[in-house]
Amino acid sequence: MNQTVIVIGAGFTGVCTAEHLRRAGANVILLDRVKPGDTAQASYGNAGLLARAAIVPALEPDILPHLPKYLFSRHSPLSLRWSYLPKFLPFGLSFLRNATGARVRKISKSIEMLAHDTVEQHLALAKGTPAEKYITTGTFTYLHPDKKDYDSNRFSNALMAEMGVIPEQLNLQELKEIDPALGDAYQFGARYKDNGYLSDPAAYLQALAEHFESNGGKFVLGAAKAIDGQSVILQDGNALKADTIVIAAGAWSKSLAADFGHKVPLEGERGYHLMLKSTNFTPPIPYMMTDAKSVMTPMDRGIRIAGTTEFAPLDSPPSKRPHELQRTAVRRLYPTLTWAEEETWMGHRPSTPDSLPMLGRTKANPNVIFSFGSQHLGLTIGPKLGVLATQIVQNRAPNTDISALAVDRFD
Ligand SMILES: Cc1cc2nc3c(=O)[nH]c(=O)nc-3n(C[C@H](O)[C@H](O)[C@H](O)COP(=O)(O)OP(=O)(O)OC[C@H]3O[C@@H](n4cnc5c(N)ncnc54)[C@H](O)[C@@H]3O)c2cc1C
Repeated sequence: MNQTVIVIGAGFTGVCTAEHLRRAGANVILLDRVKPGDTAQASYGNAGLLARAAIVPALEPDILPHLPKYLFSRHSPLSLRWSYLPKFLPFGLSFLRNATGARVRKISKSIEMLAHDTVEQHLALAKGTPAEKYITTGTFTYLHPDKKDYDSNRFSNALMAEMGVIPEQLNLQELKEIDPALGDAYQFGARYKDNGYLSDPAAYLQALAEHFESNGGKFVLGAAKAIDGQSVILQDGNALKADTIVIAAGAWSKSLAADFGHKVPLEGERGYHLMLKSTNFTPPIPYMMTDAKSVMTPMDRGIRIAGTTEFAPLDSPPSKRPHELQRTAVRRLYPTLTWAEEETWMGHRPSTPDSLPMLGRTKANPNVIFSFGSQHLGLTIGPKLGVLATQIVQNRAPNTDISALAVDRFD
């Protein structure tokens, strides 16, 4: 491919895209105001899951009746800063309109298209690079207080089964045979195959970025201020020129994407993690604690509890409650767990009201491609978005239907 491409943003979306473009022969410049793996990125602090099973969006018909309870409880994994409501309302209403059975069925099919081969996509991308060692493949288990709670997710269970994503059902005794340290809070597990996780998402991303650079890719540390024709204007006044520019700036993409003739309803959906260090044991596998909407993942640097959702202004300070909730959840999961140190973190998922990324060339400037909005699944679908963006740069028709990701769908 005889062209220069600038990719703005070096999180999972940007690094995977830059590396796929480099492998396709493009001269690639990866631009970010921070280095890959920095704590400012959503890609730093996620739960590390290659979440093949997570094909149903967070807001779906089973959740809707519980929404008021979630929004008004002090101990809820879902919250909204009420002072932010007037600004959030258009997004919130559109989010609700996308939670009907018919819409969720369609959206889930698109997520399935992006996520179904996540493990293979990551293994292919990382093969032969220092990133490879961070991938663990296997099953992923959703823990429920009891079987009745699992069965109450009638809509999502049926939809997943329709798409062939069917779990093995485990009772408490079977769960404890795999993991004897589990307490009695979660009496039922739904175990899905063909999943995976990264033992250190930030180190994995850094390793991929280093591989990109040592094989001819160029990383530039700088902040993009605007895009003018085929130039990216930097905050320091300099400009970088390219044939094509890919905006992959995560939750911050909105301001860069504002001038290309499209509505960009993008929210920074905040999520939190608690990293427990120097623990008295290491769990064997990751779990989703369904009531706390948080995942426990055993990682190289400790045990990470990551998840929850909070809608608040992009630049407002973190809340305390999500971490309190996560501390309580992990104590219920493992009553005998102790730890000597904690790291707390908050990050921004780039989320759209229909839980799908925006991917494609823009109307006002066909040299500019959007690739952002991967919400709860940016790590899972990063390599696939990179493959699809590369095909778009090459003007090759993607071998899969990506019309649901069209950049003009909110216009
Ligand atoms: C608590 C939590 C748990 C999660 N768990 C999982 C999980 O288990 N599995 C999964 O698949 N996903 C998970 N996610 C979601 C996933 O982390 C995100 O979807 C993904 O990291 C988004 O990647 P990104 O590259 O689009 O954005 P980011 O990682 O945020 O990267 C965007 C980059 O753009 C840069 N940038 C922004 N503006 C500019 C500018 N003007 N100029 C230059 N650079 C700029 C930023 O500095 C940043 O580096 C989780 C998210 C959270 C918060």
